[in-house]
Amino acid sequence: MSLAGIFLDRDGTLISHVDYLHNPEEVFPLQGIAETLRALREAGYLLFLFTNQSGVGREFFQMEAVHACNSRMLELMKLSPDIFADVCIATERPDQPQIYRKPSPRFILESIEKFDLSLEKSCVVGDSWSDVEAGLNAGILSALVETGNPVDDDLRLKAAEHQVSVHSDLTAMVVEKLDLR
Ligand SMILES: [Mg+2]
Repeated sequence: MSLAGIFLDRDGTLISHVDYLHNPEEVFPLQGIAETLRALREAGYLLFLFTNQSGVGREFFQMEAVHACNSRMLELMKLSPDIFADVCIATERPDQPQIYRKPSPRFILESIEKFDLSLEKSCVVGDSWSDVEAGLNAGILSALVETGNPVDDDLRLKAAEHQVSVHSDLTAMVVEKLDLR
């Protein structure tokens, strides 16, 4: 039986959104998320960190800063790096050719192939439309969380039109959509 993968946006989904985050001191995990990630792993889900970091492409900061922030997130959450089966940091600027940058589904499609993931059970979770669009482009379930970008009425309508569910946070999504308690 194929495993299910959960593709997780970072900023506004796992940690508080900070514009062009590059200082590990500004990493603040969202409440309850570490426990939820552990519960997902225990339930057999493979977790993927999938983050757009155009600040690297724009030369606002270096890739090392992204790694330092990711490490700080794991340290504060008391999680080991192997909580993630794989990590994709998409560094393209919006005006550059898009390879991995969401809404490109490339990382998701490659991971589905590499880890033999179930298309029906895998899911993308993020706070931006580009996150869910990557999931829609890959043909997997997509969910929006309200812990980052505000989900206004227009976005809620767009979500409904595309069968994208909206949840207060990742923990609520796991309970409401994956039926994991
Ligand atoms: Mg985000």
